[in-house]
This record gives sequence, C-alpha cells and structure tokens, in this order.
Amino acid sequence: MENAERPSAKRRRSDAAGPGGDASSTPTRSSDYWFDSGDVVLEAEGVQFRVHRDVLARHSRIFSDTFGMPQGEGSPQDVLVDDCPIVGLSEKSSEIKYLLSIFYDNMKAHDWRKRLPISHISILLRLGKKYEIDYLVEEARKRLLADHPAKLSEWDGMLPRQYKEIEQGNVDPCIEVIVLGHEQGLESILPSAYLRLAHAYTLEAILEFRFPSQLRLAFRVNCAVGREAIITEAEDRRKSWFSEINKLLPTTGCTALSRHMYSSPSPCPTSHSQTAENFPLWSKATFHSDVNKFAPLTEVYLKGLCPVCAKAVKAKYDGIRSEMWQRLPTYFRLGTWESLKDFTI
Ligand SMILES: [Zn+2]
Repeated sequence: MENAERPSAKRRRSDAAGPGGDASSTPTRSSDYWFDSGDVVLEAEGVQFRVHRDVLARHSRIFSDTFGMPQGEGSPQDVLVDDCPIVGLSEKSSEIKYLLSIFYDNMKAHDWRKRLPISHISILLRLGKKYEIDYLVEEARKRLLADHPAKLSEWDGMLPRQYKEIEQGNVDPCIEVIVLGHEQGLESILPSAYLRLAHAYTLEAILEFRFPSQLRLAFRVNCAVGREAIITEAEDRRKSWFSEINKLLPTTGCTALSRHMYSSPSPCPTSHSQTAENFPLWSKATFHSDVNKFAPLTEVYLKGLCPVCAKAVKAKYDGIRSEMWQRLPTYFRLGTWESLKDFTI
C-alpha cells in the first residue's frame, strides 16, 4: 500500500469527517447502505454507511487488517453510532456508495459486460489500490489497457475517438485516463491516451483549457508538444516518400507494367502520386478530425495500383508507421516504451 492512510476504527467525531465534510454538522445516514445488523459505520463527507466488518474484510485486505487489529481500550471521547465504531474515510461519499454497491449488490447493480464511465473506472482503480481490492484494480486495468494499447497492431483496428471498454460522455475520457496513468503508475497507457487527446481537441483547446477537466498544465504541454512533433516528423517523412518513390514504383513484377509494356509506362506511379498526399500520417486533415493519424492504408489509398505495387507501398508505409509508433512516447515527453512502468499487484 502506498501513501494511503490506514482507516482506523473508533475515530473521534472531530476526526471523522473527510475533506469537504463538516465535522460540526450532523452526519446523514445513507438510505442505500444502512443495515440494522451492521457492526461498523463508515463515514465519508458527512454521510454514514452502517455495514458489516466481515463483508468489508472479505473484499479488502486493508479492511481485513484494520478489523483484525486490537482496537485498544475504548475512551470516553470515542463516538459510537448505535454501538458501532465509526471509521472515517477521506473519499467522497459517492465513491464509497459505489464501492458498497459492488460489495453488496454486485450483479443486481452492475453489468460488467457493458462499457463503464471513466469516473467509475477511476474509482475502481484508486480505491482498489488503496484498500487492496485486487479484482477491482484488475477490472480497471484491463479496461484501460484494452483501449490504450502499446502495440501498433492493436491500435490499427481502433478509432481515436471511440472506446471499447469506456463509456463516452460529454468530455472525452482521454483526459481522465491521462490523469490516472500518471497518478496511479499505469504508464503504458499514456502514449495512446495522449494520442487520443491530440485527436479529440484542437491545439487551441488543449492549450487554452477549453474543456472541463483537471488536466495539469504539464500534461497539456506534453500533448501539444507531441502533437507538433508528430506533425513535423510526418512532414519530413512525406518529403522523403516522394523523393524516393520513383525507386519503389513500378515494382519488380508490377502487373500493370506487363499489360502496358507495348504502349505507355505503368500507370502505378501516377496513380500513387495522386493518393499518397492523403496518407493519414501526413494528410492535410488536421489532428482534430476523424482521421486516425496512425491508421494503416486501406483500399482507398491504394486505388489505381496493381496488387504487387499496392503491397510494396503498404509495406513501406507500414515501416514508417512502426518507426513513428516506436517513438510515440518520446513525442509526448514520456521517455521510451521500455522506460514506461506499470504498477504490479
Ligand atoms: Zn504496379
């Protein structure tokens, strides 16, 4: 457990309220999780949940350890609610309510086959790590990794503004994903999260903070710098592509050439020069569009090429995509893929 304060039972009332809670005001009882048979009261932001030590201990190693320790002699200052000790928590009451809904109502309250809002994934990851609830951490990690692959081949089938495991609201989830990646030590998701952010907003919006979020300036600068670095490198790659393409096309074995050998030269180089300007990496379509900058070439980009030349063009372009993907963390000032570390549980 890192940097987490261990919850302690029998906290005094003055200690019990978390940040934002007013210790002097009367706490309210949760209408959802207040069991008469409960033997402990969790309090967060002035909301009390009367639940069961055995249930908490069954899910969380931290609660298990806490309740397993002798609580010491009771003192007159200790406040008990209905004979239950109070455990003050620093989380938001809505977060504790969400956690208890998993402990007590799992399948009744949640369909884990569906996409989850990033705010819920955030609770699973943060509280899962803090209270050592491994299956919640694993659920959050699995979803984040699925939408933020480190491998280009896994990114190929994705659209930068669509998610498989994360529900999309008004704000693109990538903002919260970046915060989680940095703060929770899940660094391998960061390069593609920044790539998603670069696709989701204009440069102006990224820098001027025109979206509601808690994204720190340093993170926004990472994104802006990376976005520009990708554009610059892609432009260099475009120039060398056109300067070298005559060496590639028509390829040896060009089938269009054999058909045209008695008339005009192969049409493959000409057809190619008409579509190559629009290849996703260096296309004039800006980042803030539906174009996935790192997408592989589809049929539309290979139009007019014979199959042999098309294959050669695709392979050469894939080489460039791979090299640039390899540098993706570097663009966003994150080091190298090898230097990015994910926490272990
Ligand atoms: Zn050809």
